[in-house]
Amino acid sequence: MHHPENDEQYKGLKVNKGVAHAPTVNPYLKRRPQAQSYSPAELTEGILCGNITMLSRAVTLVESAREEHQQIARQVIEQCLPHAGKSVRIGITGVPGAGKSTSIDSLGMYRTERGHKLAVLAIDPSSERSKGSILGDKTRMADLARHPSAFIRPSPAAGSLGGVARKTRETIVLCEAAGFDTIFVETVGVGQSETAVHSMVDFFLLIQLAGTGDELQGIKRGIMEMADGIVINKADGDNILKARMAASQFRSALSLFPPSESGWKPTVMTYSGYYKTGIAEIWQMLDDYMRFALGNGYFAARRSRQAKYWMYESIGEALRSSFYHHPAVAAALPDIERQALNSSITPFDAAKRLMDLFLGI
Ligand code: GDP
Repeated sequence: MHHPENDEQYKGLKVNKGVAHAPTVNPYLKRRPQAQSYSPAELTEGILCGNITMLSRAVTLVESAREEHQQIARQVIEQCLPHAGKSVRIGITGVPGAGKSTSIDSLGMYRTERGHKLAVLAIDPSSERSKGSILGDKTRMADLARHPSAFIRPSPAAGSLGGVARKTRETIVLCEAAGFDTIFVETVGVGQSETAVHSMVDFFLLIQLAGTGDELQGIKRGIMEMADGIVINKADGDNILKARMAASQFRSALSLFPPSESGWKPTVMTYSGYYKTGIAEIWQMLDDYMRFALGNGYFAARRSRQAKYWMYESIGEALRSSFYHHPAVAAALPDIERQALNSSITPFDAAKRLMDLFLGI
């Protein structure tokens, strides 16, 4: 039959034969498997290929409290270990408001734009995921969060410092196996967590501020002693002079400290994380340090000392956890604790009784 719309003059209006409706569900789309449904070998393979989704899944297993997740995580870590270790691990600390996130964003962008892969991890034992204001939170590092060569992971959820730190330490191994050559580990400069961070990094960077009167504000001497570099942030606008004065105060304070074990003299410099000035100089300092510490053997010595520390930390954690999960200990604990509290037995006696239950004596 003749259809006028199929005439040559109406070519553009030609009615084509219809095609069958495409199925609404893509038959090739498999159900998204849960993290635990991947085998350790699949996760490891994904990580070694630099697959970020697989890396995230493995990190989720590392952070999980469930024993079956922990078992898979342990195997993945073991398989990744031979591929780990080839990165610069940098600890970053500073009081809240010092500008850690702003600085990590700027330092991180500088690094990734030069072809490096950067992972940003965090240790904050007080953090609770639901509360939002977590170290390592992507929203605080807007530019970096969008960069394909950056992997940002918030602090593992609240828990014992030892537990949180162990998880971050294991995550470093996974990130390195996935090809990340630069690792930042961020922490708030107000508690014990710096010691934990210091125990897993090659360089410890302390971010300070000028212009708040006492220049050594809120930072304990111990943290200053751990620092390999002190950088005074917000050296911009009216604050430049004050920042320089603070820097010279830090330099003279540091000169009173005993020389560091590495032989490296901690560098003090000023910069602006927000306006991105002095960022190249901070990376220069880090490169200088790496050359220095690799050259005199300190880099390797520090890493092997850290490995020893983590071995004993893990033993301690495992013993503590199996002690408190022991059925006889768990059953007797409240009563024995009560007796110790009302002084009917001594604390040492209480501990001995629980240990005997644990050891089955
Ligand atoms: P954090 O709590 O240590 O992570 O600090 P933030 O990075 O969130 O920064 C705290 C505040 O200081 C924010 O309002 C930033 O915009 C501001 N800030 C950070 N870096 C600079 C800087 O270099 N110069 C100025 N003027 N402000 C900055």
